Amino acid sequence: MKQWRSSKEIVGSLSKKDESYLSVATYLASTSSCRMKHGAIIVRNGKVLATGVNKEKNHPTVVSTEHIKDHCSVHAEVDAIKKTKNAKNATIYIARVNKRGQARMSKPCDSCYKEIMNSGIKKIIYTNEG
Ligand SMILES: [Zn+2]
Repeated sequence: MKQWRSSKEIVGSLSKKDESYLSVATYLASTSSCRMKHGAIIVRNGKVLATGVNKEKNHPTVVSTEHIKDHCSVHAEVDAIKKTKNAKNATIYIARVNKRGQARMSKPCDSCYKEIMNSGIKKIIYTNEG
């Protein structure tokens, strides 16, 4: 089951449009090189403002490659938000997939949630288990 929540924590069902944007986010997630694969897409009035994928920020010369494999320091949500100049009143779709490409819970973490709220995005839609 998929769910969305707004800044007011309302949970509801998805429209067909929501489903299709969420499937784009799911595709983006599958392209991540991280173990936990996340993808995000920001949309306003039917126009895609930006997309993002979680990625490593640390350079191999700074930390061991073993560490980089386990740790993704830039989250997909923040990656996408950074690419928009103005995300006011937009909707962000966030997806996570496992190794087999199946959707998994992708509720934004606290720091991403803050970034999302600061950016002016008013609706958050993310994949859920199953
Ligand atoms: Zn996060």
